[in-house]
Amino acid sequence: MRRQNVDKINLILNFKMIKSNCSINKLYGDDKMKIIDAHIHYRPGYEPFSAVAESSGHKNTSEHLKHEFEKNNIVHAIVMGNLSPELENHIYPEYMSYCFGLDSSCFKNPTEPPEYFISLAEEHLKRENCTGIKLYPGYCPMYLSDKQYEPFYELAEKHNKTVAIHTGALSRGDALLKYSHPLTIDEIAVKYPKVQFVMCHFGNPFLSEAAAVAEKNKNVAVDISGIVEGDFDIESCFEQYHGFIEILKSWLYYFGDYSRIMYGSDWPIVNIGKYIEFIKRIVPEKYHENVFFKNAVNIYNLKL
Ligand SMILES: [Zn+2]
Repeated sequence: MRRQNVDKINLILNFKMIKSNCSINKLYGDDKMKIIDAHIHYRPGYEPFSAVAESSGHKNTSEHLKHEFEKNNIVHAIVMGNLSPELENHIYPEYMSYCFGLDSSCFKNPTEPPEYFISLAEEHLKRENCTGIKLYPGYCPMYLSDKQYEPFYELAEKHNKTVAIHTGALSRGDALLKYSHPLTIDEIAVKYPKVQFVMCHFGNPFLSEAAAVAEKNKNVAVDISGIVEGDFDIESCFEQYHGFIEILKSWLYYFGDYSRIMYGSDWPIVNIGKYIEFIKRIVPEKYHENVFFKNAVNIYNLKL
């Protein structure tokens, strides 16, 4: 329901959480672990986002998000670009970096040639706070191996920037899963071994294929954003979705390289504090510092 309202933000939700008025009696972030949220969407005041944020127990304002970040010890976040591609539309607070979003409008555009978007992408990538490019296969109806993507992979390699890719479930009925399947990353990971790719959402629900691709290709990392949505009750979640959660944990374990797994929320779709707790329970504690902080620094080349 909400997914139809958020249009271009690409959500990977594949199951609905039971809403509950219960709250978790825990002060999140009380262990002072620094966190980087490696996957958010940021459009303060944008009405479709506001409705989603309220369903997650939040407000879609920059002040509220800053307060939530401070409360949860989130010191930095990476915005997945949803805005129109012009440079002036990508101004963010200093505690955020961003990936320039390439959606369908950047291909076969009726008014601008492909060269326009290639050169615009390069201008973004020259910025220090632009950490990479975000691709939306599935919503964009072509495979990642399509020649139209090649100039962007080459730019990412040239500027040592990361290519983040939406994978797995899609929020619109007219989008196509064959393009967002995690197996499609295998071919480009082999063809561009110097490019760092990020498989967003760990390909959910295609978890086994996602794990196989990430395990095989050392230049592929994953973020585990957007697995649940809303202002959920964590105990009910673990009880009701016990089977799914065990499968998720198993495939993360099979992948096995916790230096290539990153925390991300997919804000505004989920309650930030509760999602941190959810991921803390899924990732073994000895890897928390890597998954919640260090890996994002390395994978997105953050200068923090
Ligand atoms: Zn997202």
